[in-house]
Amino acid sequence: MANTGAIADPMHVETDVLIIGSGGAGMYAAIEAARAGCGVFLADRSLIGRGGATVMAQMTVAVALGEEVPDHWSHHYDDTLESGRGLCDERLARLLCEDGPDCIREMDAWGIGWARKDGHIAQAFAPGHDRPRCVYVDFLNTGPAVSKTLRGVVARTKAIRKAGDLLIVDLVRTGGEVSGAVALHLPSGAPVTIAAKATIVAAGGLTRLYRRNSASANMGGDGYALALRAGAPLVDMEFVQFFPIGHLAPRLIGMDPIMWDPFRYKLGGRLLNRDGEEFTARYGVSEDGRYVITRDVATYAIAKEVEAGRGSPHGGAFLSFQHCSEAELRAAFGPVIDRLAKNNIDLTRMPVEVAPIAHYHMGGVIADERMETELPGLLVAGEAVGGANGANRLSGNAITEALVFGRRAGRSAAERVKHTRRQAFEPTAARTALDLVARGGDRRDINTAAMILALQSTMADDVGPFRTEAKLARALEIIRDMTDALGARPPGSPMAFDLTRLEWFDLRNMLTVAQTVAAAALARTESRGAHQREDFPGMLPDWRLNHVARLGAGGVTLTSMLAATPAAAQ
Ligand SMILES: Cc1cc2nc3c(=O)[nH]c(=O)nc-3n(C[C@H](O)[C@H](O)[C@H](O)COP(=O)(O)OP(=O)(O)OC[C@H]3O[C@@H](n4cnc5c(N)ncnc54)[C@H](O)[C@@H]3O)c2cc1C
Repeated sequence: MANTGAIADPMHVETDVLIIGSGGAGMYAAIEAARAGCGVFLADRSLIGRGGATVMAQMTVAVALGEEVPDHWSHHYDDTLESGRGLCDERLARLLCEDGPDCIREMDAWGIGWARKDGHIAQAFAPGHDRPRCVYVDFLNTGPAVSKTLRGVVARTKAIRKAGDLLIVDLVRTGGEVSGAVALHLPSGAPVTIAAKATIVAAGGLTRLYRRNSASANMGGDGYALALRAGAPLVDMEFVQFFPIGHLAPRLIGMDPIMWDPFRYKLGGRLLNRDGEEFTARYGVSEDGRYVITRDVATYAIAKEVEAGRGSPHGGAFLSFQHCSEAELRAAFGPVIDRLAKNNIDLTRMPVEVAPIAHYHMGGVIADERMETELPGLLVAGEAVGGANGANRLSGNAITEALVFGRRAGRSAAERVKHTRRQAFEPTAARTALDLVARGGDRRDINTAAMILALQSTMADDVGPFRTEAKLARALEIIRDMTDALGARPPGSPMAFDLTRLEWFDLRNMLTVAQTVAAAALARTESRGAHQREDFPGMLPDWRLNHVARLGAGGVTLTSMLAATPAAAQ
């Protein structure tokens, strides 16, 4: 590291490839770029490989290995397009399905330990797939195993330098190219500049925008905001996936709110309303104790039952495994049953209550099949990429997407590095962002924690699974007012750990991204997949369009482009 001599003497890092985010996508990208001969700087606002969704993922990794029954990537692709309700970017969906098997076998070679049955890799059935297609390590710990395996390879790869606790605040552009970034070292408050010949945004999703979510605190949409502010467009931002059976009641401590998904995979389970009726058939899917309903339909069905006064006491649905014996539950989940007992939950005697929670984002940065964005020097990977899953993601596609897109982004970044001789980074181009990080603010009146809670409530109440023009317009007004209240400069003093300052930077991103979600949702006057408009209930052929969002001086602007999927997928 060297000093640039500018504001507050920022630390300066030079690298071939900068990777922002060390989830599955970021780590795979780092490994791939390094083995192509590049120096890599892998930065994360949290601990390396432990900060985002990858390490939290539970079970399913969808891939057409054909180990359980014959399969081909084209069948996985067909299911992905169908689930995407006519909006998938077919190039990206194809890449996900076609390259998935290779990545999954490489993870196997790296020792992940995919579960095996009779000597072959086991593949489980998941809703929306036409055959058993999801590999797993075990039913609750697949994400931790993915993360640990990649962390191991990263640790063995000398060309990868790692920096945790480093919040990337803004990308730097030099002569129209992305040439690096400005960062904030969280424990010390110190500014850092990073010069890179290629930069990969692998910063994950945005579900922290919502009051009830399955996310970590690092998933406030930073990657989308970084790309937008640098000038790269986003797509499909209205499509936030709600996980229908997030735990609601009774109180559950030390366990994951989406843990009921593996239970449903293994044991079926019955979704019941207040009257004990298995209600999904009313919404077009008869489950009868099986798990076949897709996430968008289940979210819709539960919300409509609640609205009709048939919800569970806390405002969701009952999920019952009372048809299972203690022995069956123990055979399937062993120690998990003991952890449930510590929470006073005995599934043989009682149902639990579940309700939709924000879980994944289908929208994101527009990329081509090389994972390159419109901006030279900027690539994107993982959940930060928009379009592969259209209006609704299939179970298991997100981990595959992280691995496949990460590997492809690392490869493309390395190719760019080979043809880029000198660093384009100019310290003056970093000045505005550096100024935000390195200078103090004089405001004392701002309660950033309360603002985050208020934004999460607005998003949940007005930009949640069910939307109307009035709710969305109200949300946009609130977001505008909050943006004004946030102001242009962070409060507090630099060069110290300061939570209010950190939350200011988080809110700056969260408000920008919230605005794109709400604006795109307001503009889409139909219902499709994860986007349900109560005032426009049907899916309309004319709306087989993708919304493209850009950030201008006056805020977010939207344009439409024709979706690139076959009409048959509608
Ligand atoms: C509880 C849970 C369970 C899930 N289960 C499954 C499943 O079973 N199957 C499946 O396919 N999918 C599942 N998903 C979804 C899947 O895990 C994610 O879509 C996928 O892991 C995303 O990988 P990623 O590498 O793109 O992002 P992440 O793994 O989220 O990593 C992003 C990283 O970027 C870092 N970061 C963010 N902003 C910045 C910044 N400004 N500066 C520096 N670093 C930054 C974060 O700290 C984080 O480490 C689940 C998600 C959750 C939350």
